[in-house]
Amino acid sequence: MSIPNLHAMIRRLIEIPSVSSVNPQWDQSNRGVVGVLSEWFDELGFAVETLPIPGKPEKFNLIANSGSGPEGLVLAGHTDTVPYDEQRWSSDPFKLVEADNRFYGLGSCDMKAFFALAIEALRDLPLNRLKRPLTILATADEESGMCGARALADMHRQLGRYAVIGEPTGLVPVRMHKGIAMEAIRLTGRSGHSSDPALGISALEGMHTVIGTLLAWRTELQRTHRNPLFKVAVPTLNLGHIHGGDNPNRICAECELQIDLRHLPGMAPESLHNQLRDRVIRALDGSGLQVDVIPLFSGIPALETPAASAIVKAAEDLTGYSAQAVAFATEGPYLNELGMETLILGPGDVAQAHQPDEFLALERIQPCIDLLKSMIKRFCL
Ligand SMILES: [Zn+2]
Repeated sequence: MSIPNLHAMIRRLIEIPSVSSVNPQWDQSNRGVVGVLSEWFDELGFAVETLPIPGKPEKFNLIANSGSGPEGLVLAGHTDTVPYDEQRWSSDPFKLVEADNRFYGLGSCDMKAFFALAIEALRDLPLNRLKRPLTILATADEESGMCGARALADMHRQLGRYAVIGEPTGLVPVRMHKGIAMEAIRLTGRSGHSSDPALGISALEGMHTVIGTLLAWRTELQRTHRNPLFKVAVPTLNLGHIHGGDNPNRICAECELQIDLRHLPGMAPESLHNQLRDRVIRALDGSGLQVDVIPLFSGIPALETPAASAIVKAAEDLTGYSAQAVAFATEGPYLNELGMETLILGPGDVAQAHQPDEFLALERIQPCIDLLKSMIKRFCL
């Protein structure tokens, strides 16, 4: 087998469905995508490993490695895509369509096509003469909980010193993003006839107190934490969903509020969870309500790769842009946990990610390939 040309590689990656979703109706295996990547990297002479993910049958990470020793560069990305809304696409999301100087297809921008660009960048390089290792990392389920990256972090696997994740940044280097936590605050009281408040304990009224407490906490967090590199320079707390009660003439026995909390680098997620829980419990002290504060998923840490890191400096030098902070989260914090210094830098634009008619602008392709070539030369040759 020989490796197809760039267009055919992207076409192949797009046509193999690899949707990941917390909704089992949508969720698919990424076996197909990992399979073709593994064939191509094997053909290029890389040592390829396909790693099953504990507790997630049909989901795999792929590590393809060339060269050995310390240091080295990791080119990383995720093999999954978000679900799609077929009616809102102008073409089949699984068919690569070239039009208007763009490649349309699900995963063109975010981010299966990046693997094809990485192969294009390395296929003419003297891989047998690498002084430091070059590793390709392709993960599962980035879009639905990051179990692939988490599994790698749990393995404490050493992969390299520097990493580039090809998430859509418009070829602008990114070294920072906020962390994300989502929490449910569940209050349980007692129902009763609305005519006599003494007959019950209102969870809804308790939640009124909770909301006041949360907004005061938010003001405090925003007063004490600020990072001007971010467009929204402060941590955010969004009241996103509330549900409680059933009828006007019944005292509300149960109420649940769900919030999204986005913290800045340097703020510890566990401590935020504990602060939240303590404040809510204290605010409702003596109310008779049962209080549960439950994380809705395991959360994503914030990313902060030092401005002085060699990978940041190299990317700034090669692109002419200084490294930025973005509003979306990545697998970067997990790679940094493995001892890497991770930069986010890819050819797509986040404006086209998670959208119908997702595309990659053709004019980004060659600059991205050139950039990756230069990075590989700097960090591996
Ligand atoms: Zn992505």
